[in-house]
Amino acid sequence: MTRYVFFTGGVVSSVGKGVTAASVGLLLKERGFRVAVQKLDPYINVDPGTMSPYQHGEVFVLDDGAETDLDLGHYERFIDTSLTRVCNVTSGQVYAEVIAKERRGDFLGGTIQVIPHVTNEIKQRIGLVGKALNAEIVLVEVGGTVGDIESLPFLEALRQMRSDVGRGNTVYIHVTLLPYIGATHELKTKPTQHSVRELRSIGISPDMIVARSDYPVNGDLRAKIALFCDVEPRAVVPLVTVPEIYQVPLELERAGVADYILERLGLEARRVPQLQAWEQLIERAAQTKPVVKIALVGKYVELKDAYLSVREALKHAGLALGYEVEIEWVHSAELEKGKGWEAVRGAHGIVVPGGFGSRGIEGKIAAARFARENKVPYLGLCLGMQVMVIDFGRFALGSEEVNSTEFERGTPYPVIDLLPEQRAIADMGGTMRLGLYPCHLQPGSKAARAYPQAIVEERHRHRFEFNNSYRDAFAQRGLVYSGLSPDGRLVEIAELADHPFMVGSQFHPEFLSRPNRPHPLFRAFVEAAIARKAQVG
Ligand code: GLN
Repeated sequence: MTRYVFFTGGVVSSVGKGVTAASVGLLLKERGFRVAVQKLDPYINVDPGTMSPYQHGEVFVLDDGAETDLDLGHYERFIDTSLTRVCNVTSGQVYAEVIAKERRGDFLGGTIQVIPHVTNEIKQRIGLVGKALNAEIVLVEVGGTVGDIESLPFLEALRQMRSDVGRGNTVYIHVTLLPYIGATHELKTKPTQHSVRELRSIGISPDMIVARSDYPVNGDLRAKIALFCDVEPRAVVPLVTVPEIYQVPLELERAGVADYILERLGLEARRVPQLQAWEQLIERAAQTKPVVKIALVGKYVELKDAYLSVREALKHAGLALGYEVEIEWVHSAELEKGKGWEAVRGAHGIVVPGGFGSRGIEGKIAAARFARENKVPYLGLCLGMQVMVIDFGRFALGSEEVNSTEFERGTPYPVIDLLPEQRAIADMGGTMRLGLYPCHLQPGSKAARAYPQAIVEERHRHRFEFNNSYRDAFAQRGLVYSGLSPDGRLVEIAELADHPFMVGSQFHPEFLSRPNRPHPLFRAFVEAAIARKAQVG
């Protein structure tokens, strides 16, 4: 029998519902249960893969190649588990399936309606997770905020689940915000009351309220929320903003959240949670550490969520090495105008992350050139690797016309070009080279020295690749192909021979970094940046 814990959001979005769900998942896992997490996203896109990061933040890629919401990154990092395609459901997927069934004639004679057809499809997809991931407790987070028109079918499905699987097998957690009124120095519970009322009008009574706040929440306030929202006082959990998100599981543990959930589900902990590693992580995070400065040169830098996994991966590496990684956000389009270079010059390492389209591309190429010429450690992630190859090509071939066909279709030197299997593809959604692929490391290379093993598997999301017609010419000038696909055809990692650390990967290592297990490439990169700091100060 699968148990369910549902997470809804109230008052405003972006209060940390995903981090809360991920933390609860960790605490339940630590009590000996097999857990999985699913995100239900009410937008009509089939997946976030076709959305601009400005709309939705980073697209997180899973082993199986699913392009998902960034909350799945939180789930994987906190719970240290690998999720699959069934863990992210959108309205678009649900409607596409219902309409396909209608066209096939599965409902012949019927009128297709939101209830029951759409809600049944949602419930069916919720039901899949337990089986697919062999989980005993499935955590389900609904995107957006209660009161949104789009989320109604999802909330109705959640309501029905209570009788479908049995009241005792479900727990509903509502995550809200207590706004602070500066003039009177007060936290306000009214928006929480209203959003709980809204939730109850849909037929869901929350069992627990997690109240996010920027200030400490006193007992009176908790009692008030309990009274007005009809939950037990111990089920009102204030969650005060913490400097480090990895502290949230420890806060929820102190508040007894997991024990309360298990009690509601009629379960008993199978073992005492071992959170020492997390406590040590938080201690390390809180300590004053020497700073190493990393310039992150991207085009979505205004929205830090666009590079969420990269930011976390840098942090993980810093924590392991005893350094505070300070990220300087540099807009690549600004570099093109000659602005923002102080940050690049002052950095001990440069990261160029993934991206699409030509805006700001010359700024990224200029940053790669700066790193190459000044021997500054450089880590290129997907597009960042391609940018590094373009710069190298301009240097090796002595022509500024060297480019990727993504940015200059008619370039005489297409050093980065479409993957052959991409040429016939017309649809944009879900058609890139996606997910986990093996990569053979070249013995003796920096990449091979970074990883503990010789064959690795990494997550991909791209259409373009290194053009093999330049392989020999560039190798002679000092480009090393330190990671190749098993058949040797695809360059998965490239690096410079004559450089302390200039490494680019066609895949996205950031997706596999974990708080207590930094990704080898990030670790090696930050190490190189620390060495640079020792040299230049
Ligand atoms: N735009 C490049 C490609 O499609 C890089 C993609 C990425 O950085 N994820 O190959």
